[in-house]
Amino acid sequence: MKEIGANSTRDYHTIIIGAGATGLALANMLAASGLPCLVLERELSPAPSFRNSRAIGIMPPSLAILDRYGIAEPLLRFGVRVHGAVAHGRRCVIGRITLERLTHRFPFVLSLPQAVTESVLAECLAKSRSAEVRRGMEFIGLRERDDCVEARVRNLAAGAIETFRARYLAGCDGMHSAVRESAGLRFRGGIYPVSFCMADYTDRTGWGDEAHFFFTERGLLESFPLPGGRRRWNVSRRPHGPTEAENFLAREVRRRCGIGLKPADRVFQAFYRVYHYRVERYYRGRVLLAGDAAHIMSPIGGQGMNTGFADAEAAALLLTRDANGEKAFDVYHACRSTAARAARRRAALAMLAGTLRGRFFSALRNSLLWIFLRALSKKIPGYCTMLTIPWADPAIRYRDRIGRTAGGKPEHSK
Ligand SMILES: Cc1cc2nc3c(=O)[nH]c(=O)nc-3n(C[C@H](O)[C@H](O)[C@H](O)COP(=O)(O)OP(=O)(O)OC[C@H]3O[C@@H](n4cnc5c(N)ncnc54)[C@H](O)[C@@H]3O)c2cc1C
Repeated sequence: MKEIGANSTRDYHTIIIGAGATGLALANMLAASGLPCLVLERELSPAPSFRNSRAIGIMPPSLAILDRYGIAEPLLRFGVRVHGAVAHGRRCVIGRITLERLTHRFPFVLSLPQAVTESVLAECLAKSRSAEVRRGMEFIGLRERDDCVEARVRNLAAGAIETFRARYLAGCDGMHSAVRESAGLRFRGGIYPVSFCMADYTDRTGWGDEAHFFFTERGLLESFPLPGGRRRWNVSRRPHGPTEAENFLAREVRRRCGIGLKPADRVFQAFYRVYHYRVERYYRGRVLLAGDAAHIMSPIGGQGMNTGFADAEAAALLLTRDANGEKAFDVYHACRSTAARAARRRAALAMLAGTLRGRFFSALRNSLLWIFLRALSKKIPGYCTMLTIPWADPAIRYRDRIGRTAGGKPEHSK
């Protein structure tokens, strides 16, 4: 494979590896400040269906983040606003969660397939002059210099290795991050002893824009409205249960909530395993990580992509305010690992509640849910929509720290 020397025609402020939700969000945020950035994506075109339609819930804090960069409005045009959810037990309703009373600009969860979210992010980015997206470019390694970082990339169409240079490099390349590996950052975690099956169907339930959760003796069943008159169904299953039958999900939906789904209404069905991982440190030198490259949590609770959006904004706030260097990235690590830890704990709790099986454990869980939904009725909507996940602007934290170290006033308070 021929090697092309460092691309010297243009030096970038930041190179972003990965044009998933996190990478595209970060690129939009940097582009809003006019900083030249380059997004390098391995795939030649956005992936269709399942892979790119994993996440469907955009939480209120993410909508507020994206709104600061003009991206919420186009998303709101396409998505369904979920204002509430109903939790069902064996034969009765355990409780309801209403989001309308949230004291937030966006008192709802926006339901939108991840593929659409990513295409909106890509379209917004295409309007920017300072950002460039190149597809068919696979990151394979990096080299740190005193004043910059170089990314080695395989140009899949040309069959050549190219080198790009920037002040910073952001690894937004997902769970199997090559950036993380090249930076030598360890990723610890494991796999849950349970798996799930999800499918999208034409919606004939009459449930409108409500989400429904069924806590049954066979495990959890979730149902969320989708745009275009569709509904997402998600059921827990034993990891090594019976073969992955074509009609597995429809059968389980009938058993767990009594609704019959028609095969002709099915858009797609997929089985997946669930992981939990976290990176030991969010950066090394001039390289930082964001999104699934830094943390993997169970999708139950819908927090992975949303945590990636918050990572992206935290990274952008640091990079655009030029709070650079080892100490600044240290603050990024502290802020974002605290947030991811809180989200991961909630995901683990949701997994526990969702995967308990059998009459005894199911009855115990449902009784506890009944109590919590009533005793904590004011707190639960904020908890479920990630409004209580800790958020801190790392640029301000960094300047506070510098101010304290210098014995002077923090800069931002001047
Ligand atoms: C079934 C399921 C349901 C989910 N539901 C939700 C939900 O409702 N809400 C929620 O918040 N989260 C949800 N998640 C999690 C969410 O999908 C992820 O957190 C999100 O996709 C992370 O985005 P990312 O951009 O960080 O990583 P990714 O989406 O993995 O994107 C990484 C990108 O980097 C590219 N890439 C990888 N390696 C290289 C390389 N070497 N060179 C160049 N490019 C590279 C990839 O092609 C990809 O485009 C769900 C996950 C699953 C599995």
